[in-house]
Amino acid sequence: MTVSHILGYPRIGARRELKTATEAYWKGEIDLATLEQTAKTLRAEHWQAQSEAGLDFVSVGDFAFYDQVLNVSVLLGAVPERFNAAAEVEQGSVTLDTAFRMARGRAPSGEPAAACEMTKYFDTNYHYLVPELHEDQTFRLACHRLFDEVAEAQAGGFAPKVALTGPLTWLWLGKEKGSEFDRLALLDGVLDVYAQVLTRLGEQGVKWAQLNEPALVQDLPAEWQQAFERAYHRLQAAPVKLLLATYFGGLGDNLSLAARLPVAGLHVDAVRAPGELDHVADRLGPHQVLSAGVIDGRNVWRADLAALRERLQPLKARLGDRLWLSPSCSLLHVPVDVSAETDLDAELKSWLAFARQKLDETVALARLLGGRATAGDEQRLADATRALDARRESARIHQPAVATRLAVVSETDSRRAAPYAGRARAQREALSLPLYPTTTIGSFPQTGDIRAARRAHRSGELDTEDYEARMRREIAYAVERQEALGLDVLVHGEAERNDMVEYFGEQLGGFAFTRLGWVQSYGSRCVKPPVIFGDVTRPAPMTVRWSEYAQSLTDRPMKGMLTGPVTILQWSFVRDDQPREITCRQIALALRDEVVDLERAGIKAIQIDEPALREGLPLRRAEWQAYLGWAVESFRLSSSGVADATQIHTHMCYSEFNDIIGAIAALDADVITIETSRSDMELLDAFKDFDYPNEIGPGVYDIHSPNLPDIDWMVALMEKAAERIPAERLWVNPDCGLKTRRWEEVEPALANMVKAAKTLRERA
Ligand code: GLN
Ligand code: ZN
Repeated sequence: MTVSHILGYPRIGARRELKTATEAYWKGEIDLATLEQTAKTLRAEHWQAQSEAGLDFVSVGDFAFYDQVLNVSVLLGAVPERFNAAAEVEQGSVTLDTAFRMARGRAPSGEPAAACEMTKYFDTNYHYLVPELHEDQTFRLACHRLFDEVAEAQAGGFAPKVALTGPLTWLWLGKEKGSEFDRLALLDGVLDVYAQVLTRLGEQGVKWAQLNEPALVQDLPAEWQQAFERAYHRLQAAPVKLLLATYFGGLGDNLSLAARLPVAGLHVDAVRAPGELDHVADRLGPHQVLSAGVIDGRNVWRADLAALRERLQPLKARLGDRLWLSPSCSLLHVPVDVSAETDLDAELKSWLAFARQKLDETVALARLLGGRATAGDEQRLADATRALDARRESARIHQPAVATRLAVVSETDSRRAAPYAGRARAQREALSLPLYPTTTIGSFPQTGDIRAARRAHRSGELDTEDYEARMRREIAYAVERQEALGLDVLVHGEAERNDMVEYFGEQLGGFAFTRLGWVQSYGSRCVKPPVIFGDVTRPAPMTVRWSEYAQSLTDRPMKGMLTGPVTILQWSFVRDDQPREITCRQIALALRDEVVDLERAGIKAIQIDEPALREGLPLRRAEWQAYLGWAVESFRLSSSGVADATQIHTHMCYSEFNDIIGAIAALDADVITIETSRSDMELLDAFKDFDYPNEIGPGVYDIHSPNLPDIDWMVALMEKAAERIPAERLWVNPDCGLKTRRWEEVEPALANMVKAAKTLRERA
């Protein structure tokens, strides 16, 4: 037989039940017992689904109220001092409220304190809470939740495999606080607790524990590679079998290391690194299990069971029962159940598999391979083959005109006519801007009124004409306010946009939207990424009428506002039947048409936002260049169809540019606005050292804070900026869009910002 299992299941619930319950608990609408009950019901449902599908284990330990990395921090007693939980750690009973305070600064009980930092988990859009590490930190088993969940699964009659972030990946994801020191110095203390945890699990009768070590798919320093050996030799004595799970990429230079660790099994991502399966099999010991992650845990496409069976047969013949099958990574990163999608047409639905469907695929494949296939499995395979054949040939996917156009794209299409210096002259003339021009990043407050109008429109209560009239009123208001404030380059405010990707996806060909396709982003926050299933087309202009209307209300330049190709790609589920870079170029061409149409409509400045450019970086440095090559080219393709006098802006809201500054410069945007206010302009050093040639708007205040930014403070920041970038190339703007703020906050903040710019001009 072939064991089938998963690395983890979505915890949020098919209808986001966990989100609803957690937020209700935070607001004091339900009590802890009710929240715990909801969680318990969800866990039972998820185990039931796994067991019904026929998996050999159910996954325990993948549940979290907020985040699985935070769970391990709590388990290890790594609770920062400011949360005043020493007694809880001491007694081994850190409470859920303490965990919530670590995650979000406050909880129904306990004193508020600054939340732990949150950041993206590897190359996903899932955010984890960064473990805070101190020199001489001690660890102790500080929470029993995991053991309770194991008991809960066993009481329900399920066979648990326990999944936990592994000790090295936990340390790898952590950050030193206080002084700088070697995180690996903490490893022994961490391992003591892991050993205790595994012993307890063994006592509970758990047979397998899966330790997630995705750090192994990244470039590791030699000391970290050695630490893996040390750690797993230490844990070897545990009374449970260890499955070391790696995912999100190939093992590469860590392959022999991973294969010689003394663990009972190794899981590899055979979707991202299909070529490694055989190499791993070559190196495994005679009793070790190889878990092949063959079902895509990062995407929504139905698996080709026939092709997988064929590919895996030789491996099965070699390994026999030592071959296990599973999705490539935890199913946390895909939506729950495609059968709940009532609005997707049957054809499109037949091409998709969400978490629930991926369980069935995994089990069917294991049985098809193990020679125990039922009639139902054969049927499933035949259905998949038929659906995938239809998908390959579907006229909905292939638009010959798109391929033809892409084929004739030449180097000149992604280059502006004149170099920056010449363009800058033309733009200065066209826009007649003062020194230190002021602008904003695009959105103005998404008020309750706006959201209510959108809801009413969606439900049919408000017809399109009335809805659009309401949006035009919002735009007119935003324009009037900006004129009164004295801003130089205005924006229309993005009132008509629900979301910066969804808004465009809904109007582009080749995109589909789900009703319930939620994926956890952080804590109770979920996102619903669009599905890019076909060639991307732009049947009609998407933003032109709004920008044109806004421009008609003012003599000042109105900035057009678009989401860039890389960001649209990055925040969608992307088709898997062609390289991502081709899909990205297709989006770029669609946006190029929009940019050209905006220009034709009299828009003289156009911003193409790329906040996701950096997060698309591959996990291995060796692959950065290739990615940055096509990412930059896509941006340039979208932005280079305009005359020299038309000013292209871009915006990125993060503050790490050091290692990608060359690519940022290669975008050749006339103006880039970035997040800097919290870094005291020091991040401009990267731009200075690189001799960044174009214009920069370093955000002068943090829009995430409700505090009113002080004039002198902004002046001082800009003076610091001017020490690094010549004043002629500096803009004054907030560090991100204003949609989450209220007008009462926005107006005084911008008034101060405009005053700061005036002061700067006087001093210049
Ligand atoms: N133009 C967008 C806005 O202002 C940019 C959002 C972003 O940077 N994520 O909201
Ligand atoms: Zn931003």
